[in-house]
Amino acid sequence: MEPAPLTPMMQQFRAAKEQHPGMLVLFRNGDFYELFESDAEIGAKAIGLTLTKRDKEIPMAGFPQHKLEYYLGVLLRAGHRVAVCEQMEVAAPGKKIIRREVNRVVTPGTVTEDELLDPRKPNHLIATCQGKGGLFGLAWVDLTTGSFRAADVLPEHLADEIARLAPVETLVPENAADGLHPPMSGTVARPDWTFDPTTTAQTLHRHFGIATLAGFGFDDAQPCLLAAGAVLHYLQETLKASLSHVLRLTPYSPANHLVLDEVTRRSLELTRTLRDNARDGSVLATLDRTVTPMGARRLHDELLAPLRDRSAIEARFDAVDELTKNLSLRETVRSLLDQTADLQRLTARVSTARATPKDLAAVARTLQLLPKLKAKLTGRSSKVLLGLETRLELFPDLRTLLDSALTEDPPYTTKEGGIIKLGYHAELDTLRQLAAEGKTWMARYQAEQVAATGIGSLKIAYTQAIGYYIEVTNANEHRVPANYIHERTLKNAKRYTTPSLREYQEKVLTAEDRSLGLEYELFVTLRDKVAVETPRLLETADVLASLDFLAGLAELASTRGFVRPKIADEHVLDIRGGRHPVLDQVLPPGTFVPNDVRFGPDAGTFWLITGPNMAGKSTFIRQVALLTLLAHVGSFVPATSATIGLTDRIFTRVGASDELARGQSTFMVEMTEAANILNNATPHSLVILDEIGRGTSTYDGVSLAWAITEHLHDAVGCRTLFATHYHELAQLSDKLPRLRNYTVQVKELDRDVIFLHAIAPGNADKSYGIHVARLAGVPDAVLGRAEAVLESLEAGHELKPPPTGRTRKLKPQAPPVPSLFGEPTATSG
Ligand code: ADP
Repeated sequence: MEPAPLTPMMQQFRAAKEQHPGMLVLFRNGDFYELFESDAEIGAKAIGLTLTKRDKEIPMAGFPQHKLEYYLGVLLRAGHRVAVCEQMEVAAPGKKIIRREVNRVVTPGTVTEDELLDPRKPNHLIATCQGKGGLFGLAWVDLTTGSFRAADVLPEHLADEIARLAPVETLVPENAADGLHPPMSGTVARPDWTFDPTTTAQTLHRHFGIATLAGFGFDDAQPCLLAAGAVLHYLQETLKASLSHVLRLTPYSPANHLVLDEVTRRSLELTRTLRDNARDGSVLATLDRTVTPMGARRLHDELLAPLRDRSAIEARFDAVDELTKNLSLRETVRSLLDQTADLQRLTARVSTARATPKDLAAVARTLQLLPKLKAKLTGRSSKVLLGLETRLELFPDLRTLLDSALTEDPPYTTKEGGIIKLGYHAELDTLRQLAAEGKTWMARYQAEQVAATGIGSLKIAYTQAIGYYIEVTNANEHRVPANYIHERTLKNAKRYTTPSLREYQEKVLTAEDRSLGLEYELFVTLRDKVAVETPRLLETADVLASLDFLAGLAELASTRGFVRPKIADEHVLDIRGGRHPVLDQVLPPGTFVPNDVRFGPDAGTFWLITGPNMAGKSTFIRQVALLTLLAHVGSFVPATSATIGLTDRIFTRVGASDELARGQSTFMVEMTEAANILNNATPHSLVILDEIGRGTSTYDGVSLAWAITEHLHDAVGCRTLFATHYHELAQLSDKLPRLRNYTVQVKELDRDVIFLHAIAPGNADKSYGIHVARLAGVPDAVLGRAEAVLESLEAGHELKPPPTGRTRKLKPQAPPVPSLFGEPTATSG
């Protein structure tokens, strides 16, 4: 059977789908948005709409028009891209089909509306493609702030870099869409030609008005420029708006940063916790004292890409130092910043013509604070603060303009008035007065008509369809004068007009219409005038972000007793009285036990830390990594003193529980991470290892841990902290000159152990596994038996038959390391 021909409406839908491949189309139909066909099925699943059928066979789902923003948010968070197809004309009787057009495309990487964004996180749209010579091109833009960067990346670093950016939308060439990465949510396959050298060069050159990217610090043949061009092309196609706030493309060089791979970022819980992947409880959330979203985003970025340049780090220390010591400076700066709005995202919306009247008012409010802020920064001793002062512009003209034009509290909407102040524009004032006079006339006219006709209930009202009218109830119909012209009949009343009413209506409505129209025009002109200042506004917004970031670090240093570290060029690390930044803040004051760490020419490069589980080994080694990282961010650190040698990378190999979901065994993950460290660590690196070889038999485990220790010590020579419950490894200190044995002190009381959390030279003489098992509530019978087994194993004796009658023997040659987990050697019974 021939399929039924498509209705005109479905034809419109199909056309919209075709023009917006890969997007869900929200199709406006009267008071509803509807989704059809496969979109309806996706929508039903993603946002829980009820799936129905249109014309008996087409799957359909929908929601009321006023829920649009809400559902857009839900769809975006689920990674969908959406085209909104609107009705472009009013439905009228006799009109079969009304014109519809997609007038808004919303994708996770191109939204700028605050309600659809997380204020404290960058919103990255990225593109990546393979270039010649094995490198990958990577480019990322945060459209909400205009920041646009690119880098060439080695294939083995690509996944790490992408994870750092945590993109909400990723563009890849069609031909590479399957197989470039593990499929990621939010991946958009783009036509290959949008990545080709000619198209991308053209796109970039036209946008920036340049003929080469050399001026931005790129070589024109870099693969990342292909990705950058593809990003820009996509933005232009999707937004059809000015991208004038994307001012420049900045090269990003991993070599300028302390490199953290994804495993390290995750296991140090820098921005999310391991347990529930939440911001709360992460290092970021714990240390964040910023008062603006701009500062919070800056801290987020800096924490993931710390500095490696000594003078840059020290310059930041100077700024934090000054803000820490000068309380009035810090307090004033922070209180002023607290009143500023998100100038980065506001400017982005102004520049893409999406700013609302409320947004402009927020810009105005922020500009008003700038003179005070600038004054506060004048004459500072920190170079960084002085630099910020110089870059902070005041925009006196723009400020005066906005202040004189905008009402105190303008609305979000642009077409309903209430935006422009009285006295700003003469014609607008006249129109408003006319409209107001008309309304007074209307009230007077109603009173006159009531008096003349004697109909007390007579009233003048307004509807869109017939304009102003006089309404008289049926009961009073006989009193209606002859000059009333009948317009409509209702159930209980009739509606009339009169020549004078018509005349005045004309005046009022025209005046009102024109006043609203004029207000809109004035608003747009105003917005355009702000848009002209985009580059300077973004520069100032960047100053605010930096200032908030630094003042936040100072507030943290001051309230939590952090100290200024010394930075050294050598591979040293000397932290006295160090505290774990998160745990120290979470535990009751004074509970956290501070610890020292020392690496250096006479202090060794490799610390082997033995001690029972639960003693505080992981906390200690993570603390050392975090303090090193914080110093590179320019932050003070929780310690009594700290000297930190410049570090090129921090590697961690700690806990792997969350990896199981990825379908790899714990042991495989452990070894992959170890391989990464062994292959990539340099003498400038800091490595922290939390147990190696736990996921295999004790023999295997100890052997691997042993060999890895030797390699890191002899061949790499990096600063290493290795926490392990294999106390047997302590023997290595006889052989390895730069290895030092440390242990976490515990106190044994009868059969219990007390954890002192203090790190001291020496090695644990035993694992205390049974003690910990007791703490955990393992039944006494099992503990008793375990003690007996342990005694036997340690004595190298054959096991006595256990009460169950089963016998297990040790291998004849007692191994250096007893295995409780290996194959039982003999079983009888
Ligand atoms: P391990 O790695 O040795 O098994 P953890 O580092 O996980 O031990 O620490 C176990 C618990 O001990 C932590 O959750 C924390 O509550 C506490 N702890 C660790 N270090 C300290 C410390 N320095 N001061 C106070 N409590 C600590």
